Amino acid sequence: MARYIDAVCRLCRREGEKLFLKGTKCFGQKCAMTKRAYAPGQHGAARKQKLSNYGVQLREKQKVKRIYGVLEKQFRGYFEVASKTKGVTGKVLLQLLETRLDNAVFRMGLANSRSQARQIVRHNHICVNSIRVNIPSYLISVNDIIQVKTKEKALNKIKENLEISKDRTVPSWLEFNLNELSARVVRLPEKEDIQQPIHEQLIVELYSK
Ligand code: SF4
Repeated sequence: MARYIDAVCRLCRREGEKLFLKGTKCFGQKCAMTKRAYAPGQHGAARKQKLSNYGVQLREKQKVKRIYGVLEKQFRGYFEVASKTKGVTGKVLLQLLETRLDNAVFRMGLANSRSQARQIVRHNHICVNSIRVNIPSYLISVNDIIQVKTKEKALNKIKENLEISKDRTVPSWLEFNLNELSARVVRLPEKEDIQQPIHEQLIVELYSK
C-alpha cells in the first residue's frame, strides 16, 4: 500500500503547526517547528502567502490527511462514504478517521505516533474480537475489543511505549484495560475526543465544490 515516506517534519512546516507525527521527538528541542517555523524549501522563510478561501480549505484537508497518515485517494473515499451516510458529513468523516485501527492503537497509548501504531498493526500484534487484524485502515465498531496478542519481544516494546505515553489520556470512547492490554469501543468518537484542532467543515466545503 502506498504511503508517504519523505521527511515528515516538512509536513508540519508546510501546515505551519505541529502535527505530532514523530511521537516523543515532537516534544523535544529538535522539533523542526521549534527551530524553523516556516514553510520548507528555498523560499519558505521569505514568502508568506495570504491564502484564498480555497487555499484555507485545501490546507485544512491536507493537514487532516497528514495527521492520520492517509493519502488522497483513501481520504476522498472516506469523504464519499461520509457524504452518503446519514448524519452530519464532517462529523462522520472524523469518526471514520478516528475509528481506523491504527488510530485506536495510538489512542490506547500502545504506540507513540500513528505511524508506529500502523507498524504494530501491520506486524500482526493486534487482535480485534480475538481475530488477528493486520490492516491499519480496518474500521472498528462499537463493542469491538482491541487487544495486544504478541510475543515477548514486541510486547516489551509496546509496554515501553505505554510507559512513555502514560501521561496521555485514553479517550473515553475506548475503555482501556491496562492488565489485559485491551480496549473495548464503548461508543463512536465525537469531535471533542480529538486532541488536535480540526475544522472539518472546511473539508466538506472543499469537496462539495
Ligand atoms: Fe512535526 Fe514532530 Fe517534526 Fe516537530 S518533530 S516538526 S511536531 S513531526
